[in-house]
Amino acid sequence: MAWDRFGRRLHYLRISVTDHCNLRCVYCMPEDMTFMPQQALMQDDELLTLVRLFAELGFDKIRLTGGEPTVRARIVDLVREIAHTPGIRTVTMTTNGILLPRMAHDLARAGLQRVNISLDTLDPAKFRRLTRWGRLEDVLDGIRAAEDAGLTPIKINAVVVRGYNDGQDVVDLAALTLDKPWQVRFIEMMPFAGATDIQRTMLVTSHEVMAKLREAFGALDPVNGGRLDGEARLYRLPKARGTVGFISTISQPFCASCTRVRLTADGHLRLCLLREKEVDLLTPLRDGASLEDLRRLIAQSLWQKPWGHGLAQGEIPQDRTMSQIGG
Ligand code: SAM
Ligand code: SF4
Repeated sequence: MAWDRFGRRLHYLRISVTDHCNLRCVYCMPEDMTFMPQQALMQDDELLTLVRLFAELGFDKIRLTGGEPTVRARIVDLVREIAHTPGIRTVTMTTNGILLPRMAHDLARAGLQRVNISLDTLDPAKFRRLTRWGRLEDVLDGIRAAEDAGLTPIKINAVVVRGYNDGQDVVDLAALTLDKPWQVRFIEMMPFAGATDIQRTMLVTSHEVMAKLREAFGALDPVNGGRLDGEARLYRLPKARGTVGFISTISQPFCASCTRVRLTADGHLRLCLLREKEVDLLTPLRDGASLEDLRRLIAQSLWQKPWGHGLAQGEIPQDRTMSQIGG
């Protein structure tokens, strides 16, 4: 089992399988984003070797993310290999959903258990503005395909951006949970390189979104006695089948209960999403380090996981965009 020096047991690995994407969300990357060359990314065998090492250290939960994980070549085979790795119990994915109509069933058959699908508004014009060219209907088709393939319970991720989707949008998204057994999660926008202006000036806090939902629906009933479910605090609208969640990284950080680390698209172990501290695993792997040496390097690095982010002190990670780290 892997622990850090603060006594947190680490067992959840989020992997950015590619930094490439078929959208350009305004809060994630610039429109003229430059992507990494293919050879800089972890190749399938390298990624699988690292997954095996993490599994040997007690990691049992993997989330594939990006960039857009579904645009990576052979993603279905990769899911199958990861799902069959001894020790791995859960494989999930965060996706924009666009390619799910053609992939959801294959991914499910390969061993993917659930998906989180990003959807920030139900207004087609605003959706296009937020993603720069996306079509809302494609994502809705993707959600239907995921449900049909049994990639459930469906979780919807919505980043709330002032002036883009902080009005009726959040009410309409929350209203989806009245009829659907989904979890609609509102995420506070985090600052990274690439889109820092928007991220810093257009933050909408969970508190503000909750106030809007109370005004529209009445009291929000805490689920799980108000305890965190992963990184989200969950509530139920009156008579709703699903739940709404709030991921309040900025206003109410959940660092004390963090069990996760990340593998960037180019094979660096990122110990905290919002800290620049990373350990390059891909270079020693390519230079022929033994598996034992790599396992030791990972375990020692995990021990050094920072306690939490420094946003309150104005420390904003500038080294990477969200899509390279894997949100
Ligand atoms: N392309 C996939 C998608 O959009 O779901 C996976 C990668 S994306 C980087 C993962 C999640 O991070 C998405 O839910 C996205 O909305 C969220 N995200 C991107 N930039 C963010 C930011 N600056 N602050 C908070 N969440 C962000
Ligand atoms: Fe692409 Fe996801 Fe970033 Fe949007 S949030 S640009 S879909 S990686």
